Amino acid sequence: MNRNIYMTDELQAIYDQTVAFVRAEVTPVGDEWEQAGRVPREILTEMGELGMLGLRVPEDRGGLGLGPLASATFSEALGASTFAGFDVTVLVHTDMAAPHLLNAASEDQLERFLPGVLDASTICAIAVTEPDAGSDVAAMRTRAVRDGDGWRLNGTKMFITNGVYGDLVIVAARTDPDERYGISMFLLEHGTEGFDVATKLDKHGWLCSDTAELVFDDVWVPDENMLGAEHRGFYEIMKNFQNERMVLVGMGVGAAQEAIDLTLAHTQGRSAFGATLFDLGAIRQRMGMNQAKLDAVRASLYHSAWLMEQGVDATKEISGVKAWGAEVVNQIVYDCVQFHGGTGYIRKTAVERIARDVRILPIGGGATEVMLEEVAKRSHVGSGR
Ligand SMILES: Cc1cc2nc3c(=O)[nH]c(=O)nc-3n(C[C@H](O)[C@H](O)[C@H](O)COP(=O)(O)OP(=O)(O)OC[C@H]3O[C@@H](n4cnc5c(N)ncnc54)[C@H](O)[C@@H]3O)c2cc1C
Repeated sequence: MNRNIYMTDELQAIYDQTVAFVRAEVTPVGDEWEQAGRVPREILTEMGELGMLGLRVPEDRGGLGLGPLASATFSEALGASTFAGFDVTVLVHTDMAAPHLLNAASEDQLERFLPGVLDASTICAIAVTEPDAGSDVAAMRTRAVRDGDGWRLNGTKMFITNGVYGDLVIVAARTDPDERYGISMFLLEHGTEGFDVATKLDKHGWLCSDTAELVFDDVWVPDENMLGAEHRGFYEIMKNFQNERMVLVGMGVGAAQEAIDLTLAHTQGRSAFGATLFDLGAIRQRMGMNQAKLDAVRASLYHSAWLMEQGVDATKEISGVKAWGAEVVNQIVYDCVQFHGGTGYIRKTAVERIARDVRILPIGGGATEVMLEEVAKRSHVGSGR
C-alpha cells in the first residue's frame, strides 16, 4: 500500500528502494565517513548507476522526468540513513544545485555537464551565501566584471556544501553594481585558476558533508559558462528555493521518524520502576504527541510538493512547513535524546547524531524568521482557504 494519497506506485517504489539502499550502504559505514569528513565518491557513483541522481532530469536527457513529489519522497527516504551529512551531500547535488542547470542551462551546457550529474562524475554545489550576506541574498558582494569574451570574478562564498570535494560550483555574482538584484550565475569548475577552497569548515553536525569557504581571486570565466541570462541570476536562485526548502524538510522528517523509532525501541526495551520506560505515562503520551506532530508535518510537506507539482505557487505553504516543520523536528528529536537518558548524550549513538544534524534545519536554506515573513507577506483574509 502506498504511504499517502500523493504517492504513486512509482514513488512508493522509489521510497522503498531508497530506504533499503541507505540502510544497507550508508548506515553501517557512516561513522567512518563522519570521521573522514567526506562522503566517498564511490557511493555517489553507485547511486548514479541505479538512476537515483536523475529523478528530476527529463527522460530524453537520461533521467526519470519526475516532479517535486519525487524529491519529497527521495529526501524523506534518505533521512532513514540517520547520517544527514550524507543526505545533504546527495540533495545539494540533485535538488539544490543541478536544478539550476535544468532551469537555465544552454544546450551546450547541458551536453557538457548533465551526463556527469547523472553518473556522479560531476558533483555540483551552489554558492550563494557570503560572509556578509546570508538571509539577505541580494546584499552579496562577489563581483563579476566583463573582460573580453568572459568575466572576472572576485569575492568569497561561505558555507558551501560540496564546495570542497565537488566538481562544479554554480556561483552567484553581482554583474550590475547599480542594481540591487543585478546578479548573474556562473558555472565554475574546480581547478580553474584563481578559484580556491580557503577553508574546509568544521561543523556542529552534518559531519560527513564537506562545507567550504570559497575564494575567487581574478577568476576568468568564459561567456559560455554564464548560466542563464545576464543580471537574471537573483530570480533564477529564487526559482529553486522552494524545492531546496522542501527537501530540507523531507530529510528532517525522515530523520525524526528514525529518532522516534529508535526511542520507541529504547524505551520499550528498558526496564524501570517495575515495567518499561515506555509504560510511564509521561513518556508514552509525549511520544504519541511527537508521532502525531510528525505525521502532520509530513502531510503538509507532501501537500506542498503536490501544489508545486500542479504548477501552483506554493511559496506560502513551503515557507510555512519549512518554518514550522524544522522546529517541530527539533522539538521531537530533543525529546528523543531526553528519553534515551545518558545514552542519548553519548557520541556515536544515532539519536545524538540526529540531534546535532537537525539543528541546522531552522537556519539553512532560509531561517525560520525569514520563512515566517514569506508566510506573513502572503497572509490576508481568506488566503488560508
Ligand atoms: C552546514 C551549512 C551548509 C550550507 N550550505 C550552503 C550552500 O550549499 N550554499 C549556500 O549558498 N549557502 C549554504 N549555507 C548557508 C545558509 O543557507 C545560511 O547560513 C542561511 O541562509 C542563513 O544565513 P546567515 O548564516 O548569513 O545568517 P544571517 O542572515 O546573518 O541571519 C542570522 C539569524 O538572524 C535571523 N534573521 C535573519 N534574517 C531575519 C529576518 N528577516 N527577520 C528576523 N530574523 C532574521 C535568523 O534567526 C538567522 O538565523 C549553509 C549553511 C550551513 C551552516
